[in-house]
Amino acid sequence: MEREAVLYERLSGKRIRCHVCQWRCIINPGRTGLCRARLNRDGKLVSLNYGEATAAAVDPVEKKPLFHFFPGSSVFSLGTWGCNFHCQHCQNWEIACVDVPASSSRELSPEKGVESARHHGCAGIAWTYNEPSVWFEYTLDSAKLAHEKGLYTVYVTNGYLTPEALDMIAPHLDVWRVDVKGFNDEAYRRLARVRHWQGILDVTKRARQKWGMHVEVVTNIIPGVNDDEKQLQKIAEWIRGELGELIPWHVTRFYPAHKLKHLPPTPLASLERACEIGRRAGLEFVYVGNVCGHESGNTFCHVCGKMVVRRNGYDVQVTGLDGRGGCMFCGADLNFRQAGENYGR
Ligand code: SF4
Repeated sequence: MEREAVLYERLSGKRIRCHVCQWRCIINPGRTGLCRARLNRDGKLVSLNYGEATAAAVDPVEKKPLFHFFPGSSVFSLGTWGCNFHCQHCQNWEIACVDVPASSSRELSPEKGVESARHHGCAGIAWTYNEPSVWFEYTLDSAKLAHEKGLYTVYVTNGYLTPEALDMIAPHLDVWRVDVKGFNDEAYRRLARVRHWQGILDVTKRARQKWGMHVEVVTNIIPGVNDDEKQLQKIAEWIRGELGELIPWHVTRFYPAHKLKHLPPTPLASLERACEIGRRAGLEFVYVGNVCGHESGNTFCHVCGKMVVRRNGYDVQVTGLDGRGGCMFCGADLNFRQAGENYGR
């Protein structure tokens, strides 16, 4: 479905500059931006995938992964086609890397999306599977409506939104679940062909500090790309220094996919080493992901040491939260958002 885009600038000769993500593409008439989802139609920028869902599922919120936000809740998860990154290890490349897969998408207005979420008993909506900003206008309209209907809202994002796009959607967005894929030019170049990756850190900081969003960070540990001590330490130190020691960091196992099928899955020892690096850097909540039943999946209070959430895969039992995001046993702040309190800020 076509819809006029927001956040664009008209240039000479009917050219357009898009300001939704940090590529800030300059687009000639009749051409699309790098995400292929935004077209310059005779000097007007249009979003081509408004309301075109290629994936819709009811998921446990832990699958995003989100461990400190409404634990045990279901979230209605939506994706579309197109992406502004072309990651070599993309798990969803069939929808993210193709042009207009009309046959595999279905029309889902914001009203219908919110209605479906409620119908399935979900506590919120997540835009995930591919980069949410690629259908920015749709997520913006949906997020406003979701809040009106009492649902929480989640971006599972590569973090490449511009600050002005973030500021536009932030009042309607509760969670910024962001990937930090590495911590040097080489890692981002190899994985996503992105040069100016530091903007991801700036926008994430803004989501947390200016907008008070709930932030959780994921690093998919890929052998030989981002599994060296130096990078992992820098990521952990950045989270600790800029976002805070209570921000969850998920270090997840890589499985060979797409253009990195020749690499092995991440050895368990590398994931456990990453956990150790995170803890040494001062992070209180570091979780190993994509390894079913791993002991680091549980949450322990960082002050009294008692278990507050037990997780076994997607089986989640809250055993020690006080309903206000703290520890039931000693009252320490554990940076949880829970049902029973107002979500959002
Ligand atoms: S959203 Fe698409 S068109 Fe806009 S700047 Fe990003 S990649 Fe380019």
